[in-house]
Amino acid sequence: MQRTGFAPKKTDTTRAYNALMPVLPEEWSAGDIDEHHLLVKRVGQVYYRPSMQKCDACPMRNDCQYAARAAKGKR
Ligand code: SF4
Repeated sequence: MQRTGFAPKKTDTTRAYNALMPVLPEEWSAGDIDEHHLLVKRVGQVYYRPSMQKCDACPMRNDCQYAARAAKGKR
């Protein structure tokens, strides 16, 4: 979440919670939020590998600050 820009760098659980909760849809239930968490975690496992990022194929690329910087040649 830090690379996407949704959570601040060097964040902890509390800071990540405080950054993310305001941007999630109000109508989402705890189950929806849990499912979202698992899906984002899965994106990281599939598309963001330390040896090679697959940002071009990542479903989060349009909302990701890292991908936007990479497209401009800045990482
Ligand atoms: S676009 Fe790249 S950096 Fe951003 S979430 Fe996807 S894999 Fe990670």
